[in-house]
Amino acid sequence: MNMEDLWTLEGLLLDKNNDGVPDGVSLYIDLPDNLYPLGLLDFMVRVGLETTALSFNFFEFTNQKVVMSFEKNETETRASFESGKLHIYYTSEEALSSLLSSIAGTELRENLVKDNAQSSITSISDIWTLSGFGYLQEASPQQHLNINIGCEKWNKQLFKATCNFAARLGLVSTSITLPIAQNKNAEIQFIIQQHNQSFIEVPKENIIQLNGSLDQCANMMEWLANERSWKENGVLGAWENAFHYAHFKNKEETMLEVKWDNPSEIELAEKHLESLANNQIQKVEVYVSEPLEIRSLLKNKWSEKYKNIQEITVRSSFKPGFHWIKEELIHQIPANAKKIKIKVKEHHLENSLELPIRWIQELYPIDAIIENETSISKENVQFELDNQLKHTYEVVTLLDDGTVYHLGSLDVECSKVPYVDGERFAAPTTSCIVFSSETGKAVMHFPSDRERFYQFYLTDFLPQLLDGIGEIKGEKGLTQPLFDQMEVEVWMSEEEERLSVNEERTSPLEALYEDIYFNTLDYFEDLGTKLIGKPYIAVGAVVPIMHVAKGENPRASIKVTKWHQLNKNEVKTKELFFEKNVPTKVRLEVNGHIDLWDIDELLTMWEQTKIDDTTVPNSVLVDYSFRGRPIHVIEKYLPSNEQFDNPLKMTLFKPTVLIECAHHPNEVSSNIAVHRLLERLESNNELLKKINIVAIPLANPDGHYLLKKLTKEHPEWKHHAARYNAVGLEFAHIRYKNTIFGESNVLPELMKRWAPDVVIDNHGIPAHEWVQPFAGYNSPPRFPVSYFIPSAKIYGIGRYSNELGTDVARENLEKIVKDMSEIYETTNIPKQNEYWRSRFRKYGHDWLPEIFPLEVHGNINFYKERIVTPTYSAVSILRYPEWVAADIISEVADEVVYGDVLEECVEAQYLFNLSILQTVSNSNVDMKRNGNTLYRERPLEITIRGEYI
Ligand SMILES: [Zn+2]
Repeated sequence: MNMEDLWTLEGLLLDKNNDGVPDGVSLYIDLPDNLYPLGLLDFMVRVGLETTALSFNFFEFTNQKVVMSFEKNETETRASFESGKLHIYYTSEEALSSLLSSIAGTELRENLVKDNAQSSITSISDIWTLSGFGYLQEASPQQHLNINIGCEKWNKQLFKATCNFAARLGLVSTSITLPIAQNKNAEIQFIIQQHNQSFIEVPKENIIQLNGSLDQCANMMEWLANERSWKENGVLGAWENAFHYAHFKNKEETMLEVKWDNPSEIELAEKHLESLANNQIQKVEVYVSEPLEIRSLLKNKWSEKYKNIQEITVRSSFKPGFHWIKEELIHQIPANAKKIKIKVKEHHLENSLELPIRWIQELYPIDAIIENETSISKENVQFELDNQLKHTYEVVTLLDDGTVYHLGSLDVECSKVPYVDGERFAAPTTSCIVFSSETGKAVMHFPSDRERFYQFYLTDFLPQLLDGIGEIKGEKGLTQPLFDQMEVEVWMSEEEERLSVNEERTSPLEALYEDIYFNTLDYFEDLGTKLIGKPYIAVGAVVPIMHVAKGENPRASIKVTKWHQLNKNEVKTKELFFEKNVPTKVRLEVNGHIDLWDIDELLTMWEQTKIDDTTVPNSVLVDYSFRGRPIHVIEKYLPSNEQFDNPLKMTLFKPTVLIECAHHPNEVSSNIAVHRLLERLESNNELLKKINIVAIPLANPDGHYLLKKLTKEHPEWKHHAARYNAVGLEFAHIRYKNTIFGESNVLPELMKRWAPDVVIDNHGIPAHEWVQPFAGYNSPPRFPVSYFIPSAKIYGIGRYSNELGTDVARENLEKIVKDMSEIYETTNIPKQNEYWRSRFRKYGHDWLPEIFPLEVHGNINFYKERIVTPTYSAVSILRYPEWVAADIISEVADEVVYGDVLEECVEAQYLFNLSILQTVSNSNVDMKRNGNTLYRERPLEITIRGEYI
């Protein structure tokens, strides 16, 4: 047998779970006493390099496949490998050492893989990190080991422990520089030396020293070889946590508290009616933003009270056209009507934010309401846009005998409200009284309760807020928020009605909530752009809390808490002292200050700092959210049951797919969907023979916590305030930065740990109409396209770099989309997608295709155009175009849904992810080697799917 066969499954490697990937080592080393050949360290590092998992059982005989034995010989040094026996004859320890090194493959070969990442060590807690050995600046599929282990004197225990350590170093590397002993030029120097104290130290970058007596060094080496990061259930580095997470104890401090109250719009309307009490008036139409029951009461009350008015109608000033048709016209539709035509005036007002079709949008979903209440299908309710129309709306119906019957017309009144940029304005429908008499018409405007509050917020409150924030400099507004949290609590008498169509509702207060939330973000984006040429994107948490207070006068209270500038403490473990073989004291450097601590004391401090102790079995705790909630990651791969395994090595042999869920927690389905997927993998792990899966089930626990709070009062609102992190930051923008916002570190850590081929990011869109009267009625102007109603039950977005790896990425995306369309074929998702597509067309795309874009691929909408796809640099495929093969977002209409509708969304997300997993699982992975470098071609080329699993 050839010596190279040693490094195969025929040799000392194992494949216990039959997936063709080495996942263990079966080697017994029968090491004689007083023999310490340094070449055995090279041999061990090579053993580790060849496998994805191993255990430290090299020095106890447990019926291993390969037995390595040594025999002193006078004449020659040579090895033979026959029937599981690796027998080595040697003349001297030195000759033996060289032979072992050469079996490991010491001959220096040019390293052909260019972007091998090399990690560095500046702290003892860097020795084992989530990404292996050392701290990695950037993620890479390759990790190189270049270390020298120096020791003047050995004993058997120390030598064996060092062999184990070497094997583990090899395991976490994809390439190695040999030899790892007597190599003074190595990047990392690991020195074992005699000392009267027992401690490990990192005196300088990339120098690790083990100090102590021979026995103490042996014990420390054993400890080190077996230890893990606290994130992987070890203790390494746990003593630093009280400093890393010192901000959990951040105290709340009020910056600003403001109260607002006002007469109700009903009182304003009454004043106007009162002022005309002496005039004879034929007809009065009052428009107020009030619930139907209040408006009915008012109509009765005013008809009684104002006998000078012949006829009083009280209409809604929120979506007046919609409510007019719903409350008044529907009952007048003749039984033999077969079609309704609604002529709508085109909206054109210079500098106003509304779209030309805003009067069509404001009718949504009237066609479905008509369908529910008459015999006319919604397809037979048609809109006609006309810029010459005399009224805002004219409704005619076509009877089955061909006659055209005029149902009515309506003129809608608007006001003018400046937008937060001070340049554009919104023209929301307004409350008013329209008097008609023989001499003509007169209109008296009075702003609705919502509008008066919003005006106060804009012109009175926001400047106060700016004052409170004070000077904005440095990272403020960019990576550090301007304030901590702002609660905008509002009580108003408004309609709150669930409609008979899908998830639709009439909710002026939800609209106000969205305006407060998004327009505040826009206000600061605009301010930053004007002041420093960059938008302020780190504002603070904006939390609108709305109370429906029927019949009450409007009031509000706003409370803002201060943000205390927090920087991440720089913590390094410089020295670790041992007593009776366990670490007891530590010398820490915190922001440059060095102190000696008792480890027990530090761990007690951490217990007191910690606010959430939730554990999840079989998970990795990658980081804590800003408010101290642990973010667990679940990793699924075919288990090896070995003591140690290495994610990066597993990705070398199989493609890895990373799935991020609940980044925006008000998008409620992905967390449930991914648990369903993980359960399926638990009971049927066929897929895991071909791929590894990494899931972040809840990427944003602080947002999730806020969502729970907000849904108590309004369970079915969209709750966009719960999208971002605890201080209102889109934490995707601060990934790959040194930050205290732990939620933004999770994806970067996993990119380093796994170097995944495919990254999936599960998201959601509103399940019902999204309107903002004070931002142009449509979804907010910050988005280039409209999200006013869902365009699909589920759709996808594919991203790729325009520069590098584009061809492969484009083809990969095409394959993924093709397969996905097929997998949806047998479900009811195509029908649901088609339903929403046709709604989206009717209320948007047919009129303004650029603002309501559709990219249909079979059974799914899939966007690859840059206008929809995010482009910021933290997007995985844009950061790592050389090796990420696909980067995909799902969007499902799940903001915020329950019951059957939630189940539809969960199933759609589940299939979306499963489809990608199946497609990727059929790709060929060809691990290659060049000397002691293992690699594969990246980005992965995803082949056409074979059979479903
Ligand atoms: Zn989202």
